Amino acid sequence: MNKLGLHANVWVAGWSEDEAALAIAKTAETGFDLIEIPALDAGRLRPAETRKRLDAAGIGCTLSLGLDAGTDISSGDPALMKAGEDKLRTTLSVARDLGATHVCGILYSAFQKYFEPPTQAGIEASAEVMSRVAGYAAENGITLGMEVVNRYESNVLNTAAQAVAYCRMVDAPNVKVHLDAYHMHIEEPNPVEAIRATGADLGYFHTGESHRGYIGSGSIDHAGLFRALVESGYDGPITYESFSSEVVGQPLTGILGIWRNTWTDGEDLARHALGFTHAQLKAARETVQRSSGFTEMEV
Ligand code: MN
Repeated sequence: MNKLGLHANVWVAGWSEDEAALAIAKTAETGFDLIEIPALDAGRLRPAETRKRLDAAGIGCTLSLGLDAGTDISSGDPALMKAGEDKLRTTLSVARDLGATHVCGILYSAFQKYFEPPTQAGIEASAEVMSRVAGYAAENGITLGMEVVNRYESNVLNTAAQAVAYCRMVDAPNVKVHLDAYHMHIEEPNPVEAIRATGADLGYFHTGESHRGYIGSGSIDHAGLFRALVESGYDGPITYESFSSEVVGQPLTGILGIWRNTWTDGEDLARHALGFTHAQLKAARETVQRSSGFTEMEV
């Protein structure tokens, strides 16, 4: 069964003691299985205290981050690549201490708008770093999700097919493709087909809306996406991600371009997202089961 998660930015911008307490309690109260904690600076997550709060609330966690210009492992610059590898390893140590199952996001390049296409040498260098980091993650039972994002947030992985190819280069069983409904809606000619083609390489999934607000209130074909997830036998985390200027602070506001409120009541937004996800999963499972039942009857 898929664990259902919620991105902490629905509740809070940072991770002070008060913010951690609020985000964890609200995520659990709303009924999610896990909270995705932004880890742009994992050193600030106070793993012992955070883990105690997670255990008390009875939920798990995952971490997400993007590298930056100073830690870009796709740059080909040895100093930056070393800094990036160190950052990923530090994040993984924190993830281990938190009991996180997955670390995902733009782990393979900087999380920024690039002004040049990537180089093949840069992509290969990134994959080489990732395969070393993957070994450390595996020792701690952690899966790494390579998030496929739109062209304004990275130049390396913008389509599911690119991410599958990257995972082949890394060649580690715990390095998987992380797809996001919002980004796929921008870059994929056919997001449903992209999920099917990714198949067993899919290891993490972000739901979200075309405008990153209330799920179901934009132009994404959720019924199609959920059917493809169920048909693929995907059983990993499904985490809802939404951003509003009501909550999010810098640097995320600037990098993601969150210039307007898409909602003001995070609790209503999160409750709706969980109900919507349950309904979509149930509908997709019914569709897939019944259509395979028909096939058996015809045979
Ligand atoms: Mn995402």
